[in-house]
Amino acid sequence: MLEQAITSSSLAGFDSFHAALIRVQPLAVLYANRLQLTRMRFIDSHSHLADTAFDADREAVIERAIEAGASLVICIGASLEDAARARELAAQYPLLRFTAGLHPQDAARFDASTQLPALEALLDAGAVAVGECGLDFHYDDAPRAKQHESFEAQLSLAAERSLPVVVHTRDAEAETAMMIDRAARDGVVGVLHCYTGSLALAERALGYGWYVSFSGIITFKNWTNTDLLRAIPDDRLLVESDAPYLAPVPRRGKRNEPAWVAHTIERLAVVRGVAPQSLADRTAENAARLFDVSPTVART
Ligand SMILES: [Zn+2]
Repeated sequence: MLEQAITSSSLAGFDSFHAALIRVQPLAVLYANRLQLTRMRFIDSHSHLADTAFDADREAVIERAIEAGASLVICIGASLEDAARARELAAQYPLLRFTAGLHPQDAARFDASTQLPALEALLDAGAVAVGECGLDFHYDDAPRAKQHESFEAQLSLAAERSLPVVVHTRDAEAETAMMIDRAARDGVVGVLHCYTGSLALAERALGYGWYVSFSGIITFKNWTNTDLLRAIPDDRLLVESDAPYLAPVPRRGKRNEPAWVAHTIERLAVVRGVAPQSLADRTAENAARLFDVSPTVART
């Protein structure tokens, strides 16, 4: 309609430059409005963008995330090397914030005297959370005692610095519950990331003000636990890619990337009976609150 009005004879008296300008501007505004209406706005609360899987085309992956509506991506540092790269990336790309932690699968080589000072330096350099850290008794790559030692040390750092923790837990429910109790006593809050555990453990964490994050796993055919997806309160729910892992349907099996969080949001919205954008907005607010960050990428 606007286009018709502008191209009508009412412009006859303008010189061609101004006529072109007027023609272009309203269309640009219309286009931007339409993009904002249809494009989802979200925060990816957990992505391994420092992973070498992205070395060849990281810039394009970040551009696609912005195009898909990501307003922030939390770039997880799961080892000292990984966190150092995540820190560099966060300095380079306004879309990214970084975390620093030691993954339980690497706990066999946990050495408090050398690794903790390095981790502290990364936290001091602007990490928004400690992690990912936690317990993984599924693969049992590292002795359980070492996993405990590493996790406990990181919970202490989080308490000292008043930072949230990003927690990985797999097949270690009772032990994770005890660690969460301990963390909560020290005033630490956190997120159970890529959550696939029991409702009981989720509720234990929620009781302390923690958050629960879902990944593309919930779009898989064999995910049947819709009760869990409905049980997390609106103000404690996060979404994540966990890229490059766990690409959601319909991209399952491919290298995952933050842009595809939109599929996870859609699935979660259907199960919870809400509009996808409203769920995206709530989860973005929650991520911003937990990590004390504010989206910085302008969407035009
Ligand atoms: Zn992860």
